[in-house]
Amino acid sequence: MNILVINCGSSSLKFQVINSETEEVKASGLCERIGMDESRLVYQPAGCEKEKTVLPMPTHKEAIAHVINALTDEKKGVVKSLSEIDAVGHRIVHGGEKFAKSVVITEEVIKAVEECNDLAPLHNPANIIGIRATQELMPGVPMVGVFDTAFHQTMDPKAYLYGTPYEYYEKYGVRKYGFHGTSHAFVSARAAELAGKSYDDCKTVVCHLGNGSSISAVENGKCVDTSMGLTPLDGLLMGTRSGAIDPGALEYIMKKENMDYAQMMTVLNKKSGFLGISGVSSDCRDVEGAAAEGNKRAKEAIEVFNYRVAKTVGSYVAAMNGVDVIAFTAGIGENSATTRSAICKYFGYLGIEINEEANNTRGEEILISTPDSKVKVFIIPTNEELKIARETAELVK
Ligand code: ADP
Repeated sequence: MNILVINCGSSSLKFQVINSETEEVKASGLCERIGMDESRLVYQPAGCEKEKTVLPMPTHKEAIAHVINALTDEKKGVVKSLSEIDAVGHRIVHGGEKFAKSVVITEEVIKAVEECNDLAPLHNPANIIGIRATQELMPGVPMVGVFDTAFHQTMDPKAYLYGTPYEYYEKYGVRKYGFHGTSHAFVSARAAELAGKSYDDCKTVVCHLGNGSSISAVENGKCVDTSMGLTPLDGLLMGTRSGAIDPGALEYIMKKENMDYAQMMTVLNKKSGFLGISGVSSDCRDVEGAAAEGNKRAKEAIEVFNYRVAKTVGSYVAAMNGVDVIAFTAGIGENSATTRSAICKYFGYLGIEINEEANNTRGEEILISTPDSKVKVFIIPTNEELKIARETAELVK
């Protein structure tokens, strides 16, 4: 089956066409600046150069129409006609407690996703716009929703409840949900496979370290804890997000800086993290570069990042009463040998030993622990699009 995978943001749309049998990516690309001037389509059929075209995209509907035109184009297309696209898999950010797995999209599903809009006001409405536009342009093609939160729905109340009055949970669904679930599911399953263990009998910690970062504890195929919360702001230090912070500090900062809550949230989401501490950049490469040149704040940002990752992994080892495999994934996890090495230095107590030569690898699936290491440590490149394509094919076949 040819599966069109769509990840729709408020002004962008990423896509891939994946053959679900061979798992080959036939084409990929994105639409940028939807609803703005100079909107453009970036399109890359497998084995060819990327092609960028400025095209009018007042709404997502035009963007998807351009994607379909490119995919079915006589010269550069990868399918002869739209009828060769067998299904569409949509990434949906927040499924609240309503979705513990991927589902075939129906009107009821869209309504239930809309009911989760308050939990992800920037993302869910954009996801729904993408679904509606695709439905209009591809009538009759089955569509599947794959949720970022779904994989974490197996957490117990002890992991997901906050210490706030219970009525907030009951009335508004205030609890930990977790994100990057598609990545955590993909990488944890692969980690067990690479370690030669059954997924149902394996304790794994997945470190998804990118611009947004989160860690999950996966015990016997089920997520038991994860570091993001009701929103993606909780947990680790990120590119521009603060991660966990004493809520009492917010009131203090707001009073001192004469800020309202919206301004405070902008600071925590967009001006904190690597960028906030280092003052250099939100990009790990820039911060690493500055630290190597002796920039003190850049060094501190990296130390805070690594320390928090190490502490979170340690707490998940405690939560699972052990660990068989640790996996690093996403932009930083897959590419930064120095970050992985520095984090793993905290794990001596677990009997973890890193093979620095193997660790000196970028973006490749590889075992980076030594044969004597008590816990296997891997780099496993994540592939959320492939996971979405697999789930979509499984549900529509
Ligand atoms: P997103 O959350 O936007 O999907 P990614 O998973 O693409 O983010 O990760 C982006 C992060 O990965 C950036 O901070 C970037 O600096 C970092 N990164 C990419 N390549 C390297 C590298 N070679 N060394 C260190 N960090 C890297």
